Amino acid sequence: MFKVKPLARLLGFYIGPQAGTMMWHGPVTKYKDRINDIKRGCAAIALNCHTYNTRIVPVFSYVSQLAPLPNTLHELFGMCSAIRAPNALRESDYYALHKIGGPKFRSISASCAAALFRTSLVTVTSWPLWIQQLEECAKQCLPYVQHSTGIISPPHWDTDPIALNLKNAYNGFPNSPKWAEGGALLINKLLTLNNNKPIKPGDKFVQCKSGLQKLAYNVLMNSHYNLDFHKHMKERISTLFHPFILNWNNIQFDSCISALQPFNSGNVMKVIKTWMNAWTTSSRMGGAHHIYPCLFGCSDVTDRLGHYIECPRLFTLWKYMHRNLSIHATKRWGLCSPSKSDIMHICCVFSAYHATSAHVKQNHEIFGTLDQSKQLLISSQRRTWSSFAEAYDATARDFEISSPKYTLANIIQWHVSYEGNNFYNGWRTFPRIP
Ligand SMILES: [Zn+2]
Repeated sequence: MFKVKPLARLLGFYIGPQAGTMMWHGPVTKYKDRINDIKRGCAAIALNCHTYNTRIVPVFSYVSQLAPLPNTLHELFGMCSAIRAPNALRESDYYALHKIGGPKFRSISASCAAALFRTSLVTVTSWPLWIQQLEECAKQCLPYVQHSTGIISPPHWDTDPIALNLKNAYNGFPNSPKWAEGGALLINKLLTLNNNKPIKPGDKFVQCKSGLQKLAYNVLMNSHYNLDFHKHMKERISTLFHPFILNWNNIQFDSCISALQPFNSGNVMKVIKTWMNAWTTSSRMGGAHHIYPCLFGCSDVTDRLGHYIECPRLFTLWKYMHRNLSIHATKRWGLCSPSKSDIMHICCVFSAYHATSAHVKQNHEIFGTLDQSKQLLISSQRRTWSSFAEAYDATARDFEISSPKYTLANIIQWHVSYEGNNFYNGWRTFPRIP
């Protein structure tokens, strides 16, 4: 007796009528495990990105030589984990981050398509013969209704024949909404390079052409991931400042972007995450998370970045730590020809907020009680304020800037002498006091 199985493993690929169920199982499992490792670790963003490009993207490279990547894989979420941000950027934006000083991500789907394209031209070149055989068989054995629509394998197979995958790639992915345009450009480019002579699989021209896969990757990336990142950032910033209306005619956004140049990718991401409303505030994360009120003690406002943009208490704390802080929100959030120091202080406030937020989450039993659902108790505020100041100071020291020593007595003393007794005034009037 022997058992008939619907699929079998051969040299790392699966073959058989139900190969589709298992073909990507190994790589996808590895991918998920490694993304989880990144999530569990606390590595710097630059290191996470390096791990992503060198240990996660290549997981797919072997199988992708013969089979197209399934549409069910969303690489966006892996990249979210690598930069430790909520879902605030479009897929295309991730690949534009490096242009403004952020980390450079490699695309899994484009690498896979490029590998399949290269295989069809250089590595496995006998597929036209296999297609001929399949078509011959299909003509003889398949019902006419199926064969007439171009199907060349029986309907109980859950994947297309490998030969057909290669044929599609060779023809520039005409059936793929994602790559059809880039595929056409790629083929045109190769034709031009070959003096407009048609290129057959295994031709001397492609055999000798080095960097074919890289060329394919670049052309596919440029044609598919080309959304305007700057415009999108501006839209997100406008939404963040709502109900205040930003006058973009007075904001030289390009100069804001160039101000990021001297910083490393981790710090650049702190500013980008601020502009893109990607702080991991409890209301931004949503879901099962507990939503706290303003962590610095305002009443009836939730813990969200839209509030912190104009939060009078965060402003007071920030101003205490950085005495030259502007009273204008656009200036202090880096939208008004920011200097190097402006950007550094945004990074400091970013780190200080996240340290405070982590402290609050870790001590949920203290901060999450029912009587604090609308406003933190004074005792809790003292804790969040000192946690903020401590983390601010630590980040400032990394930038080699010094900040005043924080104690509650010091800040009250400073506030009374410097700004009058407006400590607990309404949030609308407070930031306008000179
Ligand atoms: Zn507040």
